Amino acid sequence: MYKKYQVIIIGAGHAGCEAALACSRMGVNTLLITLNMDSIARMSCNPAIGGIAKGQIVREIDALGGEMGLITDKAGLQFKLLNSSRGPAVWSPRAQCDRLLYSILMNKSIQNQRNLEILQSEVKSLIIKNNKVYGIKLLTGETVSTNIVVVTTGTFLKGEIYLGKKHFDGGRFNEKSALYLSKSLTDDCGLILNRFKTTTTPRINSLSINYSKILKQYGDEKPIPFSHFTKINNWRKSLKQLPCWLTYTNNITCEIVKNNLELSSIYLGKVNSKSPRYCPSIEEKIERYPDKISHHIFLEPEGYNTNEVYLNGLYTGLPFEVQQKLINSIKGLENAKVLRYGYAIEYDYSDPLQITNILETKTIRNLFLGGQINGTTGYEEAAAQGLMAGINAGLRALDKESLVLSRDKAYIGVLIDDLTTKGVDEPYRMFTARAEYRLAIRNDNADLRLMDIGYSIGLIKDKMYQKFKIYKDLVNKICNNKIGFDKSINYNDLSPWSIDKIKLESHIHNIYKGYIKIQNKFINKIKKSENKIIPKDFDYNKVCSFSNETKQRLSNLRPKTIGQASRIISIKPSDIAILNIYIEKFNALKNKKRVL
Ligand SMILES: Cc1cc2nc3c(=O)[nH]c(=O)nc-3n(C[C@H](O)[C@H](O)[C@H](O)COP(=O)(O)OP(=O)(O)OC[C@H]3O[C@@H](n4cnc5c(N)ncnc54)[C@H](O)[C@@H]3O)c2cc1C
Repeated sequence: MYKKYQVIIIGAGHAGCEAALACSRMGVNTLLITLNMDSIARMSCNPAIGGIAKGQIVREIDALGGEMGLITDKAGLQFKLLNSSRGPAVWSPRAQCDRLLYSILMNKSIQNQRNLEILQSEVKSLIIKNNKVYGIKLLTGETVSTNIVVVTTGTFLKGEIYLGKKHFDGGRFNEKSALYLSKSLTDDCGLILNRFKTTTTPRINSLSINYSKILKQYGDEKPIPFSHFTKINNWRKSLKQLPCWLTYTNNITCEIVKNNLELSSIYLGKVNSKSPRYCPSIEEKIERYPDKISHHIFLEPEGYNTNEVYLNGLYTGLPFEVQQKLINSIKGLENAKVLRYGYAIEYDYSDPLQITNILETKTIRNLFLGGQINGTTGYEEAAAQGLMAGINAGLRALDKESLVLSRDKAYIGVLIDDLTTKGVDEPYRMFTARAEYRLAIRNDNADLRLMDIGYSIGLIKDKMYQKFKIYKDLVNKICNNKIGFDKSINYNDLSPWSIDKIKLESHIHNIYKGYIKIQNKFINKIKKSENKIIPKDFDYNKVCSFSNETKQRLSNLRPKTIGQASRIISIKPSDIAILNIYIEKFNALKNKKRVL
């Protein structure tokens, strides 16, 4: 019934959309299959893109020719550069988005894309022979042939939704779960699947909020777009930013949560799997920090054409009636009406140690996995993996060499390296501290780092690339003091790049070049300390700059050497740098005592 495709992508979430667009733009005949055409690139949780470290990832996706930055610029309703009072290495763009508009625009990009077809259906199984992919089988019985498959099924594999004591199948609220594909991934492909969980917050009606009691939060006065290709002046003129709002929990909210803990799905013992440590439910926050009563709750509009407001910070698995009570205990929300309740979801993921650094499974040739299925959380982490899985699937179809980004080149390189060398035991999200080369891999220079690669694989259009090349050349010359600003050049021809961007980039380069040298020396020193012995009596709890998570993991596992410590899940390069210094101090003190 169906013709043969060079690549099939399963799933049209943030990972699947990037994968499908990348493959088809590379000239590869691609089919994208998804359970529901109306929920393409749906933001399951917070309607926001970017943030600390995640904003850098979106800029990298954009520089490689991905879609997320472009759509965010069109669907964003509030833009902020986080950490703007600190150094450029940690400047992180973030945008609040119109959730529905984002999905519609991505759907349009997909439908308009040449070489890309889309089908609403459920993939039941993969057709595998001799450890190679031959196609997929739909739940309706038809088969579709291909030699390359990218699986990006997010939270849908045997997804189970929990609302207090109730639970039922679902990949997201009101969306069906993919109940069959897991069996094929385990039985036909030899993959081991485990369970993770995550929660989302209730949404309320803006008309029921008492705005006079809460704090207004504006976007930036001079917002900066995500995409390198967005023309900033026109964009700013047409952008109508909406405010967000801030309120706090109080002792009554905390009491309500404490008194109902046993009713939460998080504590029922039904959802036994791990949730994202850095996106905890209100139940987990109150249990973890019993003395803290004032937790931030950000009120974020869900779109231009809806009254729905997202309660960021109030992730919960409590029953409906308790959610309503705890919302009404919060200042400004005394009469708030809930439109959608929060819930928890548990789903299958595949341990990323089972894939290589090009996101191909080790067991089955030409089977790639990308996104939340690899144990990550977050739209940006998903999109980045989807893009890389799509690029590598496309390169395989074209019989070309695979693409791997190194840790010193991109956050995307850090993400994939961490996943495929350390694995995960709780949902993985990106932080700046995970990137040892963070002074060099900034949001401002994503184009300089990656656009040549994007062009070489066919994802950056020639016209744009020619402008970029002139821009890059000018930045290099100015940074190396070869020329000053040349009056004969018409900088307007460089648009969307500009004279201001050249000035900013050369300025940042000058500030950072010394620090980057020191950073690289330091990293080399740490690499050389791979075999350094960690004393048996070293007390990790005394290292005050370690997070509780780091203290816990190192104390439990007690690695013998620095190298072993660096390979433990969630141990960041910054932890290893600190550990190195503390061990030197520890040994020096011991020797001194011995001499005395
Ligand atoms: C309740 C909830 C709360 C969340 N909270 C947060 C949060 O606080 N912060 C955060 O960063 N992230 C959160 N996330 C995670 C975020 O939604 C994901 O990280 C992101 O959407 C993952 O993208 P993805 O492309 O991997 O998968 P998804 O966006 O889940 O997309 C999966 C796609 O696969 C399709 N699919 C699945 N199985 C099949 C099949 N067999 N056949 C055909 N199509 C199939 C689905 O239809 C869907 O299109 C939350 C998710 C949920 C559900």
